[in-house]
Amino acid sequence: MKVTIGDCVIELVQGDITEQDTEAIVNAANEELIPGGGVDGAIHRKGGPAILKELREKYTRCPTGEAVITGGGNLKAKYVIHTVGPIYKDGKSGEPELLRKAYENSLKLALEYGISSISFPSLSTGAYGYPIEEASIIALSTVIEFLKKHKAPDLVRFVLWGEKNYKAFEKT
Ligand code: ADP
Repeated sequence: MKVTIGDCVIELVQGDITEQDTEAIVNAANEELIPGGGVDGAIHRKGGPAILKELREKYTRCPTGEAVITGGGNLKAKYVIHTVGPIYKDGKSGEPELLRKAYENSLKLALEYGISSISFPSLSTGAYGYPIEEASIIALSTVIEFLKKHKAPDLVRFVLWGEKNYKAFEKT
């Protein structure tokens, strides 16, 4: 499904983030920037060793809520923005604010690099355990606010893994 916010588009698709042809894709990384499972593992596998090499050369770590950027290696995307969402405890330990920051700082980097289209996975909702409904509200409201304020990027695509995740975002 598609929603327009001014001249910008938010798109929801069910699929694999590593297949996206947007200028940037976002990785659900960890603070150590060490390739793990889930989205992170898939991006490093398909993107090849150039991504990890660049991460090691430029950055030591990435605190939760922050974001860093590398090239896309063998991926279709020119850039990978690596951000770290919070590990979910009880929803009252600052997780909503940190999740909001992870989306916002990724979008700020996109703006800084003049990136016109970007794909996000549903950050924190895999290994980090964030309930998908709560996470989808934060993800979508943060993107909508950002697009209203900055009028860029032109396209923000959420790439949801499996029908349950897609349906949750669609409902929100
Ligand atoms: P986190 O550690 O931030 O929870 P995960 O990678 O474990 O990150 O999961 C984040 C979300 O990405 C989950 O909803 C998971 O189902 C989904 N996911 C896993 N693999 C892919 C993929 N290849 N493309 C898009 N989403 C994916």
